[in-house]
Amino acid sequence: MIKKILIANRGEIAKRIIETCNRLDIETVGIYAQDDAKLAHAEEADFSVNLGRGTLAQTYLNQDKIIKIAKENNCDAIHPGYGFLSENTDFCKKIKENNLIFIGPSVAAIELMGDKKTSKIKMEALGIPVVPGYHGEDQTEGILKEKAEGIGYPVLIKATAGGGGKGMRIVRESNEFSDALAASKREAMNAFSNDKVLLEKYIEKPRHIEVQLVSDGKGNHFHFFERECSIQRRYQKVIEETPSVALDESLREEMCATAVKIAEGIDYQGAGTIEFILDQDGAFYFLEMNTRLQVEHPVTEMVTGFDLVELQIEAANGEAFDFKQEDIEQMGHAIECRIYAEDPDNEFLPTTGRIQKIEVDASTDYRLDCGYYDGSSISTNYDPMLAKLIVYGEDREEAIEQMQIALNSVVFGGTKTNRDYLKRLLNHDKFLAGDIHTHFIEDEKVGLTFEDPSEEELAVVFACALQSELTSIMNSAWVNRFTPTDKTIIVAGE
Ligand code: ADP
Ligand code: ADP
Ligand code: MG
Repeated sequence: MIKKILIANRGEIAKRIIETCNRLDIETVGIYAQDDAKLAHAEEADFSVNLGRGTLAQTYLNQDKIIKIAKENNCDAIHPGYGFLSENTDFCKKIKENNLIFIGPSVAAIELMGDKKTSKIKMEALGIPVVPGYHGEDQTEGILKEKAEGIGYPVLIKATAGGGGKGMRIVRESNEFSDALAASKREAMNAFSNDKVLLEKYIEKPRHIEVQLVSDGKGNHFHFFERECSIQRRYQKVIEETPSVALDESLREEMCATAVKIAEGIDYQGAGTIEFILDQDGAFYFLEMNTRLQVEHPVTEMVTGFDLVELQIEAANGEAFDFKQEDIEQMGHAIECRIYAEDPDNEFLPTTGRIQKIEVDASTDYRLDCGYYDGSSISTNYDPMLAKLIVYGEDREEAIEQMQIALNSVVFGGTKTNRDYLKRLLNHDKFLAGDIHTHFIEDEKVGLTFEDPSEEELAVVFACALQSELTSIMNSAWVNRFTPTDKTIIVAGE
């Protein structure tokens, strides 16, 4: 039985895992890079280990060091979160060699599904529909181009080892092929040290619909319905919701049953997500499987009432779940907005700064998954996602309304974020009508552009900047010469 878990991640996801462990009376060991010493995951774990300064390879991706810390601290298991080492089979193997439990699927499942090529071959063998394309061994440019012409433009080039939207390039005409291939290979090599690619027919204006799966430790497979993640920029999700307005009961059943069939077909264990692409005619195709917890898992938790991290731990313990598929219900509607430190009016480029989080309205029910504290510095070393805001409503309309209120309630000052952009997205006629697809952000660019901020918004930004200045003054050596009582007087004076 798992009694103590090392969490090999940072920020909101590490904090999220700690919360479930606390509820289950499981001890937690956190790890943090020196610069993250004051973040929630470093502070809230029962025990935390400083990984020191250095590159990602020396800190959060330092497999041997992380396993050594787990052993020294008598952990039974390691939870990898998402990103980082969550889909790294070397890490997974080493964990097992050290007699620790990896909270996730088997090495074989990650190996098979982590590669877009091998997973597509397996899906074809299982009779699952995949996007037409080429995923052969021959990677010479001549052959690839010939295959692209055979598929017919537009074609999408993808890195077989890809993730996070990296290495993807659309080719609309034959003369663009060479440059796009070179760019894709370059990006893939940088990100994954592997520049193999595959080709897919590029589907115009599809929806991204995915199905959450969890398989227990005894070979029982369950689906937790769908999530619609069509609102994306640079192939990365921005708003996710469940249920999807694009599915009627029969299509929902068919997609969920297909996902369960995949879990059975690969003898899966633990949490995973099958991503599908749904075209405008209602046909769906397997896109990829993410063999881990997903960023957007909270919306599923809200409508089903299950704690997916708890289920991951139970599965890793080898336990059978004590419920049946019929016990899992989809109730109401949930939406998640990813709050990014980025500038939507400047190509979504990441921004930096010192954040000051202000929650101003406690009258709305919202879940804020955030690993940062007031005064945290935002660097470009990590993912620009600052937090996730998740709300629930009886129906979609109510959930959108709740999200607008929640977005007004949570303000991140001191750095440019996409908060106002999210509000514009949610307020867009087509979004309100559920008329969305993965190219929505690009196609509706004009209607989503920046308007001058209201006086109220300017006041908040100004207040945040002031607050941020005050915090740094309060933490300075100069102020620390004063007694705590004097400090209180200074703060009260703000
Ligand atoms: P999700 O569907 O959960 O949003 P993403 O594919 O967008 O999944 O990735 C989740 C997180 O993991 C993001 O922060 C992304 O940058 C990171 N990520 C995903 N795949 C990889 C990978 N192969 N290597 C490094 N980081 C990755
Ligand atoms: P990643 O591993 O980077 O998440 P995916 O294969 O899941 O890569 O694709 C990410 C996104 O790219 C999808 O959500 C979708 O918006 C778009 N996409 C992927 N494949 C296709 C395709 N064949 N046609 C159109 N869009 C696609
Ligand atoms: Mg994906």
